[in-house]
Amino acid sequence: MMPDVTSDSTKLRPWSGDRAPASWGLGDGQAIPWEYAPAPEGRDVVTLKDRYGLFINGREVPSSDGAVFPTVNPATEEKLADVSRATPTDVDRAIRAARRAQRKSWGTLPGRERAKYLFRIARILQERSREFAVLETMDSGKPIKESRDVDIPLAAAHFWYYAGWADKLEYAFPGRVAKPLGVAAQVIPWNFPLLMLSWKIAPALAAGNTVVLKPASTTPLSALLFADVCRQADLPPGVVNIVPGPAEIGMHLVSSPGVDKVAFTGSTGVGKLIHRAIAGTDKAITLELGGKAANIVFEDAALDQAVEGIVNGIYFNQGEVCCAGSRLLAQESIVEPLIEKLKDRLSTIRVGDPLDKNTDVGAINSRQQLEKITELVAAGVAEGAELYQPNCELPDRGYFFRPTLFTNVAQSHRIAQEEIFGPVLSVLTFRTPDEAIEKANNTPYGLSAGVWTEKGSRILSMVRRLRAGVVWANTFNRFDPTSPFGGYKESGFGREGGMHGLHAYVRLEDR
Ligand code: NDP
Repeated sequence: MMPDVTSDSTKLRPWSGDRAPASWGLGDGQAIPWEYAPAPEGRDVVTLKDRYGLFINGREVPSSDGAVFPTVNPATEEKLADVSRATPTDVDRAIRAARRAQRKSWGTLPGRERAKYLFRIARILQERSREFAVLETMDSGKPIKESRDVDIPLAAAHFWYYAGWADKLEYAFPGRVAKPLGVAAQVIPWNFPLLMLSWKIAPALAAGNTVVLKPASTTPLSALLFADVCRQADLPPGVVNIVPGPAEIGMHLVSSPGVDKVAFTGSTGVGKLIHRAIAGTDKAITLELGGKAANIVFEDAALDQAVEGIVNGIYFNQGEVCCAGSRLLAQESIVEPLIEKLKDRLSTIRVGDPLDKNTDVGAINSRQQLEKITELVAAGVAEGAELYQPNCELPDRGYFFRPTLFTNVAQSHRIAQEEIFGPVLSVLTFRTPDEAIEKANNTPYGLSAGVWTEKGSRILSMVRRLRAGVVWANTFNRFDPTSPFGGYKESGFGREGGMHGLHAYVRLEDR
């Protein structure tokens, strides 16, 4: 039988949630003299429709067979709306619309005209940011303070950034002529729905491509609200098409002979299926897949700052982040104080209603994902790792999981090897920089890593030896549209963001 890791019956330390952590200096176990008042973000900025259609050729249309699927608020398990489920016929129609737009309108526009549309989209996203933030939180379960302060501003920033490149392609690729690839098929996941949409649509459009995008089935609403932004920006019909639907629809889209470029973000397993499906074609492809990042803390690091970075690295977005710092590698000499500080900090993390502005950890995106996290945490306990969870109260309904910390973890444990995609941190130790590198690189993935040390020379030497596409030094989970992002090994290939992200959407020819 699997150990029950979600109930209070496990070997948990007593929670100190209404008691002051020792670091506050109020005396051991002294009651905190205040409580957070509820601070719910208003839902009234969002007008939910009962039913959302597909977005094809600039119009909202029902699916060809009339079928719909529900999208659910993971924090309450309530249905938010029905969404039209695209059929292969609908996808083909969207691809034809995208092709027409690429040939007749978008592909023939000068870069400075394309830029105006992208600037307009960026501005509208900013103007409607609160509406997007609330809708994203309701559909995905992420805390409002993250959708409000991270997802939506960064999504707009990607449109600003790539708008700036649209009329400067000759400077981005000096001496070459950058031509669009044509129609891009884009499949995105549920962890950063609007942000992943912007990572994919903004560079594609800047370079003169048109797109057909399939959002994840659990989070289609922000993509469908983005369709409204396209209409508001007067984007020519067919430049952006959005076709929600199940996995088979994603496969039909990427396999279609009508698309020239495939961009996928999601699990490594599906990335492999897609890669196989298009093998032998001349489609361009970028794959951004899973990760199992090491966050490496040396003994000379500023420990309090490192604790904040570790918390941000693994509990941000409930740990449902491909580049999450899910493995903490702590130098042996400081592991004990570091773990003490971490446990202390965990007791102050607020889990609950994602629409409450005080919430740090919201709802897990789906029941299926919650089951996957629960199963892997149970495997960690069964394999002998030591579990710590603050005993915070979880809401009665919805898909919630306590922030979790595992010590006594061996390199061979599943929790040290597999991507959990949840708020679960596995702590390992090392003695020397060589051992840290050995352990950090000992994973099939290679997406990101973090290094905490006061020594600049050590940062440079670690960065050179870590097999990870992104390495943060004395910080974690920082994103910027100017900076490329992508992986090695089973984390995929190709880069999104920055000029590298533009490169993935152009064919370079000699002058
Ligand atoms: P998937 O890889 O299945 O989903 C990502 C996207 O791909 C969704 O739009 C999904 O559609 C679509 N998709 C699924 N199967 C296919 C297919 N055969 N062909 C084309 N498109 C497909 O991720 P899951 O939601 O199943 O999550 C499973 C695990 O993947 C997570 O636990 C996590 O470890 C990892 N993951 C990694 C992400 C990352 O950012 N790198 C993001 C999401 C998950 P639909 O939603 O309709 O199934």
